[in-house]
Amino acid sequence: MFDANCIFCKIIQGVIPCQAVLRTDSVLAFLDMNPVHPGHTLVVPTAHHVTLMDLPAALGGDLLDALSRVARGIVAATGAHGINLMQNNHPAAGQVVMHAHFHLIPRFDDDGLTL
Ligand code: 5GP
Ligand code: ZN
Repeated sequence: MFDANCIFCKIIQGVIPCQAVLRTDSVLAFLDMNPVHPGHTLVVPTAHHVTLMDLPAALGGDLLDALSRVARGIVAATGAHGINLMQNNHPAAGQVVMHAHFHLIPRFDDDGLTL
C-alpha cells in the first residue's frame, strides 16, 4: 500500500513536504505545486493505488466526504464561483503521477480557462 518510488506516497509519509489542507486516515488533500489557479488542491487516497479503476469501493464514502469538504473550503478561501473536479488515468489521459488523485480546481466567471 506504499510505493517507495512514488512521490505522493513520499508526501503521505511526510518524507516530502506539502501544504496539507485535510488529512484523514484514508485521504490526504494538499495544494498542487503547479496550480491552475491559487487553491488548486489534490485529494489523494493515502494507500497507493495507481488509477481510479484500482480504488476499493470501501474508500468511496471517505473520499466523497473529503472531496466535498475540500471543495467547500476552496470556495470559502478563494471566493471561487465554481469548481472543476478533474481526474486523469494513465498517461494517454494526462496522468503524470501514477498514484490515483483528484484535482479540485477553483474557477471564476470568465476566467478563460479551458481544461
Ligand atoms: P496528473 O497530471 O498526474 O493528474 O497531475 C499531477 C499533479 O501533481 C500536477 O498538477 C502537479 O503539479 C502535481 N504535483 C506533482 N508533484 C508534486 C509535488 O511534489 N507536490 C505537489 N504539491 N504537487 C505535485
Ligand atoms: Zn503512491
